[in-house]
Amino acid sequence: MTGPEPHSWVNKLDVYVGGKSKVAGVDHVIKLSSNESPFGPSQKAVDAYIKAADSLRRYPDGASLDLREAIGAAHGLDPEQIICGLGSDEILKMACRAYAGPGDEVLYSRYGFMMYPIAARAVGATPVEAPDKDFVADVDAILARVTDRTKIIFLANPNNPTGTYMPRAEVERLVQGLPETVLLVLDAAYAEYVTRADYEAGDKLVDAYPNVIMTRTFSKLYGLAALRLGWGYSTPEIISVLNRMRDPFNVTTAAQVAGAAALADHGFVEQALAHNNHWLPLLTERLEDLGLEVVPSVTNFVLVRFPEKHGITAEGANNHLTANGVILRWLPGQGLGDCLRMTVGLDEENERALGLLEDYIKERS
Ligand code: PMP
Repeated sequence: MTGPEPHSWVNKLDVYVGGKSKVAGVDHVIKLSSNESPFGPSQKAVDAYIKAADSLRRYPDGASLDLREAIGAAHGLDPEQIICGLGSDEILKMACRAYAGPGDEVLYSRYGFMMYPIAARAVGATPVEAPDKDFVADVDAILARVTDRTKIIFLANPNNPTGTYMPRAEVERLVQGLPETVLLVLDAAYAEYVTRADYEAGDKLVDAYPNVIMTRTFSKLYGLAALRLGWGYSTPEIISVLNRMRDPFNVTTAAQVAGAAALADHGFVEQALAHNNHWLPLLTERLEDLGLEVVPSVTNFVLVRFPEKHGITAEGANNHLTANGVILRWLPGQGLGDCLRMTVGLDEENERALGLLEDYIKERS
């Protein structure tokens, strides 16, 4: 029996591998591998989620209207230009399904978010990588790779797994250098964490150009990763195209009400941001004190490079941490075998990770 044959490109697809969450033999792990907020969601979001149990028998509002209005009010955006998705991942995939296919190219920067090549290949398009500069996306390198087959450019700003960002002026130079037929996806999953004055998540660029979409998520700062909730903001034309690609009831009722409640709990969000603003420089400094190199980050995680000496390696450190129940992210599959990515955790979680790294390095120095 031969069975059904998938499209030729499906066999080349990699399966996305998320951060580990379990270690055999360890009951309580410290998970700093997926950039989730260490505080989880606001209690108000949890209450709204629980209350949604009363309406389980009803289909959700397919248009996510109340949630789009809440997002619009929170960010000063027109709800008509917002689309909600099953995580921002779904919006990235909808964009690929709508605008790219076999024979087309989807462009992104080296060390860009690893979903981009997967989303491109899933629709039969060819992923094309542009080199970066010191872990930051390089506008000229991206523009140099635009061809008449390029349909989409993905730019994570700030980027995961590097933690770096591109200032607004550079992103604008990128848009201005593109043909208007190329869709620029500004993936701003970590926008809430950025404190730099020269950063813009992308909404102003959406308003100024016909070919830009900004995507955002509730998975990071809002602590709702398990609910799968993200959104996109773009021109009415692009949003209308994506709505045609969207499953009719893509976002659950629980996710819609929890998302709206999470947005309204300003105090909770401010506290989570204050914690991150405290730890991001501290973590950087303490890791550097251990002789490690930290890529400058504007997010809730850091990419740590292990200069190979005295047998100290990222892999060895990762093994040591994991054996002791602390999970960071080692990314050899992305060409970052000499790095570990660490999410900012609670005070005691960060201290535990730093302590284990110190032990590992001191034993070898
Ligand atoms: N973009 C980037 C840069 C990310 O790091 C992530 C999550 N790892 C996503 C998009 C997807 O987030 P979600 O689907 O949970 O909204």
